[in-house]
Amino acid sequence: MANEEKLAINGGKPVRDKFLPYGRQWLDESDIQSVIEVLKGDYLTTGPFISEFESKVANYVGSKYAVAFSNGTAALHGACYAAGISNGDEVITTPITFAASANCILFQRGKPVFADIDPVTYNIDPASVEGLITPKTKAIIPVDFTGFPADLDSIHFIASKHNLIVIEDAAHALGATYKGKKIGSISDMTMFSFHPVKNITTGEGGIIATNNISFYEKLIQFRSHGITRDIKKMKQHPGNWYYEMKLLGYNYRMTDIQAALGISQLKKLEYYNEKRKYIAELYNQELKNIKQIKLPAMAAGYLSSWHLYVIRVNSSQVKVGRNQIINALQKENLGVNVHYIPVYYHPYFQGLGYEKGLCPNAEELYEEIITLPLYPLMSDDDIFDVIKAVKKVIEYYAISND
Ligand SMILES: *Cc1c(COP(=O)(O)O)cnc(C)c1O
Repeated sequence: MANEEKLAINGGKPVRDKFLPYGRQWLDESDIQSVIEVLKGDYLTTGPFISEFESKVANYVGSKYAVAFSNGTAALHGACYAAGISNGDEVITTPITFAASANCILFQRGKPVFADIDPVTYNIDPASVEGLITPKTKAIIPVDFTGFPADLDSIHFIASKHNLIVIEDAAHALGATYKGKKIGSISDMTMFSFHPVKNITTGEGGIIATNNISFYEKLIQFRSHGITRDIKKMKQHPGNWYYEMKLLGYNYRMTDIQAALGISQLKKLEYYNEKRKYIAELYNQELKNIKQIKLPAMAAGYLSSWHLYVIRVNSSQVKVGRNQIINALQKENLGVNVHYIPVYYHPYFQGLGYEKGLCPNAEELYEEIITLPLYPLMSDDDIFDVIKAVKKVIEYYAISND
């Protein structure tokens, strides 16, 4: 029977002739010109565009400071350093994220502790976080999964009760708001990523937004070898050529080339996010009657930046597993994806002793999720191709249509 089904669904013409990726950047002539300008100038790295990009991002998200990094993962590493994470400190995060949210804890020799997710929003569940706090807990890393803010009030309430630092992984959430506040203005440190699939890009890039001057100063030193040229911080000052290395830092600097691209992209962020919202709302409207799938959560006071659109298949209402549905959608030429494999399922984490069964809600979610294509350059035809293909495949595998 499986073979006949395969023939019937894939034997016909796919909904699309041309492959549609799940995400991609949008660069125009002004972005290209801004990069060329840097290439013709005096500074390729750590010149005037870095500080301009930092102050524009800080201004946009409503933080006092922002520190640019070579990528979002390096920025998270910097934040863990600035938060003082070291040998054996426990940091609580979610398993439904990219591995970097937990790897940054390991970089500092801390221990990632995985809290389960809320089955409605798919974000970290504050009740689960609270249950995992020990005297060794130092920080919480919530992730604004898909651009939908985590339950930040509850997380900050728990953090202040236990004296923990909150490092928000907002790689998906540039432009999102929580109860009227921009993401980036709320947590002790907030990370944004500028990888090409994210809401704006610098090729590779990341930034930490913070209101805390002590974190700010640590981040600045950490991203550039732990070196200072600030006379007030030196043991001696024999001349202007002199500098001191004060801690074991890294070379995690962003280039001016990247920063110039970021400045140009930032001008278009609101427009891009409007387009993302438009696409998400079309999906919401056109897919809401398919009872075999669950659409993303919405809630009053939360404004998503719609980085990803994740549908959840109700396993009990379809004849096949999620993987087979993905294969069928891919045969329709849709670049569907899975965000995310629970972090501790990865062989590296299994090798560290993390076992399956740790976070049941996350594990159940993982078996049922599919990320649909979503990026601002999609045309209406692209959007309706996705809708058509999802309807075609889900209806084909549905157990009953009444
Ligand atoms: C993209 C991403 C990161 C890492 O950012 P890079 O810039 O790719 O290093 C971290 N966390 C999440 C949730 C991400 O999506």
